[in-house]
Amino acid sequence: MAKAPCLNGVKVGVFALQGAVQRHAEALDALGAEAVAVRTPEDLAGIDAIVLPGGESTTMSQLLVTSGVFEPLAARLADGLPAFGTCAGMILLAREVLDGRPDQRSFGVVDVSVRRNAFGRQVDSFETDLAVDGLAGGDFPAVFIRAPVVERVGRGVEVLAAVRDRPVLCRQGPVLIAAFHPELSGDLRLHQRFLVEL
Ligand code: GLN
Repeated sequence: MAKAPCLNGVKVGVFALQGAVQRHAEALDALGAEAVAVRTPEDLAGIDAIVLPGGESTTMSQLLVTSGVFEPLAARLADGLPAFGTCAGMILLAREVLDGRPDQRSFGVVDVSVRRNAFGRQVDSFETDLAVDGLAGGDFPAVFIRAPVVERVGRGVEVLAAVRDRPVLCRQGPVLIAAFHPELSGDLRLHQRFLVEL
């Protein structure tokens, strides 16, 4: 895909202490943004947006706290930092986490309740072609890996795609959340949409 020149110089942090970091970074770079690994509070300086990847949300929550990134990132998000959370990253951005660990923290910037591992054991992982509201070019190939689902959607949250009537792609203001792994399919359209809406 051709680079989008308007994105040159846009710095997008990718939380990189745990999870599926590399493919997100590659997608962002391919679109002309600069992916910056975020491991310390200092890494947040100068980023224009952040990606919270898939992984294990309980572990990521712990690492966000122990690394000292949680509080300054929460402040940036409260100030309107655009964010894209995928799978575990979606859980971390949600207002309420169901079936989480009691000490699990989330940023609460999207007014949804998400249930962890909601698609059940037999279908822990699956791939499906997703119809995404307003996305040109046809269905999006979505890879779900022990995915969460949105069980409650608050006012101000836009549902962009659903599986079996359950929302799996939502947006509230500058924050996009996906229950699946858009970085794994080689289709850059959701990263692109996130970046152009910055
Ligand atoms: N099940 C994981 C969790 O609860 C998320 C899985 C993923 O990110 N692929 O954090």
